[in-house]
Amino acid sequence: MRAIGRPGKREALIRSLQDDAGQTLWDLIIIGGGITGAGVLREATRLGLKVLLIEQRDFAWGTSSRSSKMVHGGLRYLGSGQVGLTRESVQERQRLLEEAPGLVEPLPFLMGHYKGIFPGPRIFNMLLAVYDFLAGRRNHRWWRKGISDFLAPGLRVSGLEGATQFGDAVTDDARLVLRTLQEAVAEGGEVLNYVEAVQLLREGAENAGSEGLVSGVTMLDRQTATKFDVRARCVVNATGAWTDELRAQLGAHAAVRPLRGSHLIVPGWRLPVAFAVSFFHQDDKRPVFAFPWEGVTVIGTTDLDHSQNMKRDASITQEEVSYLLRAANLQFPSTHLEEGDVIATYSGVRPVVSRRIQHSDADKTQPSKEKREHSVWDDAGMISVAGGKLTTFRLIALDVLKAAAPYLPVMSAVRESRIFKPVAAGEKPASINATQWKRLVGRYGNAATQLSVKQMNRIAHTDTLWAELEWVLENEMVVHLEDVLLRRTRIGLLLGQQVMNLLPDIRIMCQRRLGWDDARWAQEEYAYRQLVRHSYSLPDQEVAVTARHAVHAEVA
Ligand SMILES: Cc1cc2nc3c(=O)[nH]c(=O)nc-3n(C[C@H](O)[C@H](O)[C@H](O)COP(=O)(O)OP(=O)(O)OC[C@H]3O[C@@H](n4cnc5c(N)ncnc54)[C@H](O)[C@@H]3O)c2cc1C
Repeated sequence: MRAIGRPGKREALIRSLQDDAGQTLWDLIIIGGGITGAGVLREATRLGLKVLLIEQRDFAWGTSSRSSKMVHGGLRYLGSGQVGLTRESVQERQRLLEEAPGLVEPLPFLMGHYKGIFPGPRIFNMLLAVYDFLAGRRNHRWWRKGISDFLAPGLRVSGLEGATQFGDAVTDDARLVLRTLQEAVAEGGEVLNYVEAVQLLREGAENAGSEGLVSGVTMLDRQTATKFDVRARCVVNATGAWTDELRAQLGAHAAVRPLRGSHLIVPGWRLPVAFAVSFFHQDDKRPVFAFPWEGVTVIGTTDLDHSQNMKRDASITQEEVSYLLRAANLQFPSTHLEEGDVIATYSGVRPVVSRRIQHSDADKTQPSKEKREHSVWDDAGMISVAGGKLTTFRLIALDVLKAAAPYLPVMSAVRESRIFKPVAAGEKPASINATQWKRLVGRYGNAATQLSVKQMNRIAHTDTLWAELEWVLENEMVVHLEDVLLRRTRIGLLLGQQVMNLLPDIRIMCQRRLGWDDARWAQEEYAYRQLVRHSYSLPDQEVAVTARHAVHAEVA
């Protein structure tokens, strides 16, 4: 099977694009390697188009590795009247559960109802009846007793009248992107990470005053700082929270309001939840939840205007940490969670399309009230897309291709609509159980059979196997250490600082598979430690204080 990129493939493809010097006309260039770009690539390759996807950092580096990982209809969208979005989402959820078991798995939710707090059980169950109707199956249940004893031990009982259980699903968001890319590459798509679109090329731009359709992209290989041009019939801008940057080159007004959402990861035993426990923060009545994921518990999320530097990984602030800990401690009063319990943190930036983006902060809609539907724009032949959800990526991709169709060769209708091809029943290695095998097949598809049976032992206490690490190094275009620890596998998040103890073993694997010498390893390890400190840990007090002092000094 054609892999995303064996070592050396990235450099060879860049060389061939440079040698080609823009002679070849691609059908489509997709800018952005999150779930939206990956989905467009998947659907375009299915149509037989010649497509190249580029990502300025690593695949899924943006929001698509830092979401709340729910594959869901979004009950809150239904609550705010977005029935269309909810219907599409629950149908896509069902499809993904069927197509990618092991990668997208059912996750039961539990919502406690408290005296005098909206929504009460009656109205909530009515919402769920509609939710289930849209999904075509009944999947909710009302509990009156035993909730804090066995359903959600430790749950606040004062005022608790009962709880509703309902069904959604959860995934590994970065692996969902990678599996989608893998399917597309197997059908002929080409992908490059650490290649940035720096300039849009336009037809007739050489004649002063004439600005035609977008005809290609000047790309920057961030590893070598070299630029090259690639031409295409159509360019798709799937850059999420960065969408406005490329559209601005075409004179379009800003439309995306970047909203940050942060999460805390704590050990599963410190806040043991078998359900995604959904509740309203007692301070501001915003919905928040704690859910089990890969052996840890994730607490999220916030919803704030994001004004940090977009060139860096977003990071949680001290206020967000306090807000989320307080949420958990109010809802699970006996837990007494503290900062010392936090293994890791992560923050993602929602690319929310806002109608009031030009307004002053005071006149903007409250972040949580902004609609989450996606929008598609055609600016001089460049098709941009932003908004939407992880869950609906296939539908978003189809909308993008519809908008791109006038610029593309006539495409014949395709009957097959599965994102993920059925996996040929490979043989389960004797050393792992059926659940572990299902997990591998979900994450790697047909390539699961290529994982080394000799390395089927777990990395520390996570569900990730050493064989996965080895396979991704050999097959998934790894450029930096952070790619392996934060997105190809998630052990950087699941183990936090503990992953540092594994670095000597990981170093041997990286040096052997990727040919890194000692100096390169030292550079990678240093960069990883800095990154974790800045964006995947509790806020760095030292950095925060220095930054505050700098601001005070400037103001003074
Ligand atoms: C906190 C949070 C929780 C969420 N929870 C859920 C959830 O539970 N379920 C759900 O369905 N959805 C959820 N979402 C929404 C979902 O995560 C996003 O809608 C989705 O990931 C957006 O994907 P994207 O590909 O459009 O953007 P991204 O994943 O951000 O991808 C865009 C990519 O474009 C790249 N790029 C930018 N500029 C350039 C350039 N010039 N050249 C090359 N590349 C470039 C970026 O590096 C980035 O990787 C959540 C979002 C957030 C923030």
